[in-house]
Amino acid sequence: MKTQVKALVVGGGAVGTSIAYHLAKAGWDDVMLLERDELTSGSTWHAAGLLPLFNMSYATTHIHDYSVKFYKTLEQETGLNAGFAVVGNLRMAQTQERMDEYMLYASTAETVGVPFEWLTPEQIKARWPLIRTEDLKGAIYHNTDGYINPADVTMAMAKGARQRGVEIVRKWQADGFEWNGSAWEVTVTKMVEKGGNLVPSDETEVITAEHVVTASGNHVQRTAKMLGIKMPAIPVEHQFVVMDQDPALVEWRSEGNGEHPVIRDADAQSYVREERGGWILGVYEKGAPSVFEHGVPDSFRADLFPLDLERIEEQYMAMIHRVPSCEESGLKDDFNGPICYTPDGNPLVGPAPGLENMWLAEGFSFGITAAGGTGYYLAQMMVEGEAEIDMASLDPKRYGQHWMTTEYAARKNEECYDHVYVLHHPDEEREACRPLRTAPAYDRQKAAGAQFGCVNGFERPNYYGPLDAPDSFDREARSFRRGGWWDYAKAEAGAIREGCGLIDATAFAKHRISGPGATAFLDWFTTNKLPKVGRINLTYALTEAGTTRTEYTIVRVAEDDYYLVSAGAWHAYDQDYLYKAIMANEDRFGRINEEDVTTKWGVFAIAGPKSRDVLNELVKDADAGTVLSNKRFPWLSMRDIELGMCPVRAIRVAYTGELGWELHHPIEMQTYLWDQLVAAGEKHGMKLVGGRAQNWLRQEKSYRAFGTELGRDATPLEAGLDRFVDLEKDFLGKDAMVATGVRSKCVTLLIDGPEDADPWGREALLADGEKVGRLTSGGYSVAFGKQIGMGYVRPDLAEVGTKLKVRMFRALWDAEVVEDSPYDPNNAVIRVDG
Ligand SMILES: Cc1cc2nc3c(=O)[nH]c(=O)nc-3n(C[C@H](O)[C@H](O)[C@H](O)COP(=O)(O)OP(=O)(O)OC[C@H]3O[C@@H](n4cnc5c(N)ncnc54)[C@H](O)[C@@H]3O)c2cc1C
Repeated sequence: MKTQVKALVVGGGAVGTSIAYHLAKAGWDDVMLLERDELTSGSTWHAAGLLPLFNMSYATTHIHDYSVKFYKTLEQETGLNAGFAVVGNLRMAQTQERMDEYMLYASTAETVGVPFEWLTPEQIKARWPLIRTEDLKGAIYHNTDGYINPADVTMAMAKGARQRGVEIVRKWQADGFEWNGSAWEVTVTKMVEKGGNLVPSDETEVITAEHVVTASGNHVQRTAKMLGIKMPAIPVEHQFVVMDQDPALVEWRSEGNGEHPVIRDADAQSYVREERGGWILGVYEKGAPSVFEHGVPDSFRADLFPLDLERIEEQYMAMIHRVPSCEESGLKDDFNGPICYTPDGNPLVGPAPGLENMWLAEGFSFGITAAGGTGYYLAQMMVEGEAEIDMASLDPKRYGQHWMTTEYAARKNEECYDHVYVLHHPDEEREACRPLRTAPAYDRQKAAGAQFGCVNGFERPNYYGPLDAPDSFDREARSFRRGGWWDYAKAEAGAIREGCGLIDATAFAKHRISGPGATAFLDWFTTNKLPKVGRINLTYALTEAGTTRTEYTIVRVAEDDYYLVSAGAWHAYDQDYLYKAIMANEDRFGRINEEDVTTKWGVFAIAGPKSRDVLNELVKDADAGTVLSNKRFPWLSMRDIELGMCPVRAIRVAYTGELGWELHHPIEMQTYLWDQLVAAGEKHGMKLVGGRAQNWLRQEKSYRAFGTELGRDATPLEAGLDRFVDLEKDFLGKDAMVATGVRSKCVTLLIDGPEDADPWGREALLADGEKVGRLTSGGYSVAFGKQIGMGYVRPDLAEVGTKLKVRMFRALWDAEVVEDSPYDPNNAVIRVDG
């Protein structure tokens, strides 16, 4: 065994094996894969091997698409047949809502380039007569995917990896990780058999590895403990059963008919595929418990749990309804194994929080489907610095480190498991473990009718519904079209444009950066000129590849004292990048102090033409009448003011594009400030406003949002943010940004869409019938009385006035590229004096 390597991959399941293969393929010739038992002995061996392309996430769809294409090439490369049965995948809908869901998914498929077709119940019946169709609305059909043998595909990747120089070491376990300043020293222990268990021996080695990747499957909690980090990946029990032969199926096949596609009956929470003349039935049922919350016992190796038939009875009966000929088939075999989950169902892929050169690939629930693409894109991140797609939605740091607990992860993962086949409404808010993180004004907001969303665990009003709403209100308000919340959001957006609205933005991430090195560091770390003392700027931290890593509102409080505000949903993700950059550059710039003040400061945003009038009711100053005037408090500046008895750091910006201020205040005075603002606002017709209206309003101003328009797949120049990039100075990622050029361009579009729906920001944009871009945001514009969206198109189509089409619900709708900030393009209303 080598003791010095470039990269050590821990875990020989499908995922770890693919990563080792792709690292070698990407050019690293010194890669080792370590497996505590045998390759595939984790969850991989008992997977059903389905490879569904269907996925609602853009990044994950790319990953699955890569896997499906890659697995088809493995036999030619390695000579090993991975058993890929390209039978296709038929996803059926029993309701119109389910068809709406598939149409939204089809937007993602179209933008990624995944082929699919629509089938009517009659077409399904004509092709596959054993399927009952009279209660179906239709189906979406992929003919390029199917299922594979999980162990065989892993072995083929292992062979491919070995051929490319990877050393695969079995029966050795990684037991400790120590960073020595330039590499990881990984203590590994020889594993031995003892009474059927696999246990550590006394034989140990230390492997020095520049990079480590963990892909430890069900052992993820042990790995997390060793690394001193939190990972909300915990397995849940998952079952499938193999049935005896179905005579009707045997006969049908004997007539020369091809194999059935994998049949997904989402409304019945199950999937079915053929297996030697019978069927395999897999289910995503309610009540599946999480397992191994505190680690995997030594006694659990390539084992299974007992079948719990009672738990899956409903799905079993539904299958008999769907494929009536199987009614008489008995059960031949069953599998109930651990399947790793995370609260949102996406795996944790990317750099580990707080650790250098430590990469995570954990929490895979579709790990056979995702292994190929994960290896490919993670290897790009490690070898080239960035992947060609934005991997942020899979980044391990999308979950906060300081508030996450095992209990939270376990309960959320159980919820995620039983939500696999619920309708994936884009306005869905999952309910488990809530409320958990609440700002002090939460109860008041709730009493005022707030329906909350969850941002990084924080409760934040999405909209204010009726005061006497039943608990089920928001659940019933969800839709793929305009949901029951739409009219409330519209009224809120109108209130900000015409009067005044109050928004809770407490979830914002907030950091104070100070000290002698702070100015030089931030000047290098971000793209824009640093503001003068008392002023604010919008600015960007870039990746080394020159794409957008973080958006900051940066406030210069004193010469070497800065207050950085960034997206609440990306708190740990942004913080990790910032802190790692500080640590790596302190020698160069001098001492820099960093302080996370996210939970010390609350934030309310007040906006609208009457917002100054509301604040004037409360502000205390020797000359209270002028403190909020343009002269004393110009746009894009900050002032410490007093609102009643509350000290407030007021920042004159408004994400909604109206006259407005962000009111940053000590969290312990939040309820006092809320009450003052609400009372003062009453006189001026102020409305409480949630995040949904704010999201629409910011698109009327073409304000890009992180995670949609802004991410690691576009530079700020592509995002059209040239005015926030100072090309006169040097900054991190500048050369790469310039060298990248403009591959596509961010535009704002006004859309003449359907009467009952707005785009969600996933839809394809077309010109002359050809796909030319995609929406990244969408919604309704109260200012223009029609749909609005933002997205990326080919640069030659970014001119104002360009006519495009947007596909929604299978139809094409007119869209026109409009000037940036179509509402108030000269910022006159933001700057209004008073
Ligand atoms: C019943 C069932 C059906 C499924 N069906 C499908 C399906 O149809 N399609 C699909 O895509 N997915 C399916 N899955 C999910 C799939 O099995 C997993 O997502 C996938 O196997 C995860 O692969 P992995 O490599 O991440 O983990 P694993 O396969 O669990 O591999 C992790 C490996 O790491 C090793 N390891 C852990 N810690 C250490 C250490 N410290 N040192 C050395 N080695 C270590 C373990 O021994 C193990 O071999 C199914 C799961 C279940 C339970």
